[in-house]
Amino acid sequence: MKSVLVLLGVLLPLTCFGQSGLTDKGLFFPKPSATSYVKLIPQKPLNLKAFTLCMRLFVDRAVVNQGNREIILFAYCTKDGDELNVWQEYGKISLYLRSSSEGAFYAVPLFSIFGTNLCVTWESSTGLTAFWVDGRRSTLQVYRKNHKVQSGGVVLLGQDADSFVGSFDINQSFVGEISDVNMWDYVLTDDQIRNFNEKVWVGPEPNVLNWNTMQYEVNGNVLVVPEKYN
Ligand code: CA
Ligand code: CA
Repeated sequence: MKSVLVLLGVLLPLTCFGQSGLTDKGLFFPKPSATSYVKLIPQKPLNLKAFTLCMRLFVDRAVVNQGNREIILFAYCTKDGDELNVWQEYGKISLYLRSSSEGAFYAVPLFSIFGTNLCVTWESSTGLTAFWVDGRRSTLQVYRKNHKVQSGGVVLLGQDADSFVGSFDINQSFVGEISDVNMWDYVLTDDQIRNFNEKVWVGPEPNVLNWNTMQYEVNGNVLVVPEKYN
């Protein structure tokens, strides 16, 4: 009995630490910060030969673009460094796989304060990658053919890590609202991605990151936006 109580004492603080399920909710990062971030817990390891990553963003350009800031939209890093990062930088959207310098760059339309749906797709076998803004696909590029995204990392919203879950830079932090971060370990079809714009999602269940059942940990000044705003 004593050992059970000791075990409960150890487990309870850990289980209280995380939260789960973000259906119809957003995460609001009100101002630049070097300490605020949200850690997302994937449903399975990110050893990926392909993916579709989608998210909804509310971004105020007047706040975000001051001084040519680079803004991290999605970060997945391992102990070896950045593994899968999506950025908005200098009027472009970019995808970086295991690199901080060689990315796939797209001059896509700027994000809106009234919300933007963004998806990025990539597959190793062909290297084909594309961004989708409000359901419309960009030109294709060939990037990192035969590459594989490796598991064992941590998914972060709000900050780019330059050491493992650390060394954050206030000038790279995300400012605005982000929601519906969903990830599949394959490339969805054109029609399915277009459906991501709809309020009611009719496509396949996300199997890597699922916003509706997401386990997550909030650190610092990040507000969970109530359902009534969505
Ligand atoms: Ca950085
Ligand atoms: Ca980094």
